[in-house]
Amino acid sequence: MKPTHIEHIGIAVKDLKEAIPFFEKVYGLECYAVEEVVDQKVKTAFFKVGDTKIELLESTDPEGPIGKFIEKKGEGIHHMAFAVENLAEKLKFVEEQGVRLIDKAPRKGAEGLNIGFLHPKSTFGVLTELCEDPTK
Ligand code: ZN
Repeated sequence: MKPTHIEHIGIAVKDLKEAIPFFEKVYGLECYAVEEVVDQKVKTAFFKVGDTKIELLESTDPEGPIGKFIEKKGEGIHHMAFAVENLAEKLKFVEEQGVRLIDKAPRKGAEGLNIGFLHPKSTFGVLTELCEDPTK
């Protein structure tokens, strides 16, 4: 599959109002975007670290995926995202390798990226996202 880099690491937090200033003050990173992804029931905040981003995820609904994650496991790393080219092909390829997919076809994620998730039961417990930048 050969991802080009780690696109981002997603971290579930209870409150962006607390987490954003922490990342800014302690790590010296700049929050360059805050975006709500309505169908995922999350508000996201982004920081750049080289080619990789940190994506903070705050739930907007306790029944949403991040709300449930925090209730079960608490705050922490929620997923890792690889940057790939030809996302639809890559999803097909990983499925052929016997990996269970959450998304069988690309869908729209934050920042205008096309995304697809692999099931953590198939990926050593790591919820794994593949991202494609449609402008590239
Ligand atoms: Zn993500």
